[in-house]
Amino acid sequence: MRIDKFLSNMGFGSRKEVKVLLKSKAVEVNGAIVRDPKIQVDEYHDKIEVHGETVEYAEFVYLLMNKPAGVISATEDRYDRTVIDLLKEEEQHFQPFPVGRLDKDTEGFLLLTNDGQLAHELLSPKKHVDKTYFAVINGEVTGEDVAAFEKGVTLEDGYVTKSGQLKVLKSGPVSEIELTITEGKFHQVKRMFLSVGKEVAYLKRLSMGPLTLDPALALGQYRHLTEEEIELLK
Ligand code: URA
Repeated sequence: MRIDKFLSNMGFGSRKEVKVLLKSKAVEVNGAIVRDPKIQVDEYHDKIEVHGETVEYAEFVYLLMNKPAGVISATEDRYDRTVIDLLKEEEQHFQPFPVGRLDKDTEGFLLLTNDGQLAHELLSPKKHVDKTYFAVINGEVTGEDVAAFEKGVTLEDGYVTKSGQLKVLKSGPVSEIELTITEGKFHQVKRMFLSVGKEVAYLKRLSMGPLTLDPALALGQYRHLTEEEIELLK
């Protein structure tokens, strides 16, 4: 591939920014300074260095986003903006997709990757990956609800959910809760609350498996996972 695409894919900025980097003589391929963005490199065999540091080629990208409300967690949509539209060109190159779906009005933790195998494993019902949500509920969430969620509730289509851990943070006419579930059925949290006669007014995912939402990420922002975080997911 072209050196500018390689460097952009590896997180050195847009093609324009990479061009500036190349001009500054910071890039070497097999020990020779390269300034031409168009030259082709073999990403698997060539030794590519930036400021003397070797850049290892990684085919996969792993991103953690704080999804804002109002965007769709899909790769494309006819009417609305998607989470992919929030990514910069250098990440879009990798063609990542969201791991599972959050509703348009749900905020919070969303992984994006192009690693289909990892995504499949995280979503597999057999793996029982925990997902924790914070929600504001219209209505008073009670100890009875906690017990019902623990046992599993029957959704409107007759499906009985697996056990969910409900923690009541604030109980009143408007309640605040945290709920941990291992499944990912369509609108699951909202439907679980509907089954006990209550409505979710606000929903945010806090964590998935071993990873939690990074408080440094504002809504709509994202960052690459660290090597350690990627290992934790595998
Ligand atoms: N449950 C829901 O109801 N909505 C989401 O976006 C995620 C879980």
